[in-house]
Amino acid sequence: MSTSNASFKNKCVTQVNCVFCDSLLCTRGMKAVLLADTEVELFSTDIPPNRTVDFVASCYSTESCKCKLRDIACLKCGNIVGYHVVAPCKPCLLSCNNGHFWMFNSDAVSTLNRLDATGVNLLLWGDLPELDDSENEDSESPSEEDCIR
Ligand SMILES: [Zn+2]
Ligand SMILES: [Zn+2]
Repeated sequence: MSTSNASFKNKCVTQVNCVFCDSLLCTRGMKAVLLADTEVELFSTDIPPNRTVDFVASCYSTESCKCKLRDIACLKCGNIVGYHVVAPCKPCLLSCNNGHFWMFNSDAVSTLNRLDATGVNLLLWGDLPELDDSENEDSESPSEEDCIR
């Protein structure tokens, strides 16, 4: 049942927009399914989208686990678009979640699959440079994402 990191590399990179005001929230989204609730569809990202979202209210936990969460809202329109995992609980950490601690609610965002440089193929996570929000695709830095295998 262990999901290897390699499977993430085959996922499409999606652009995430606020569904309320259509502002761009992040360009490194990944479709994710909550372990606890597979009915809920989410999009996650590894880079804090700090110029497009802001925290609202304070930390809380859900009933399913002890992760500390905090809602995030679109900076432009103020609607809640997802949450940030402030402090993951142990089970979640151990289940290795590819380092994505920013979640967008599929109800609150519209997403678009990104294309690679050719403009024909879908851009996959395996094609992305490590934690680089600029567009230089030529940095071939050694992978740092071997969290837990
Ligand atoms: Zn918005
Ligand atoms: Zn948890």
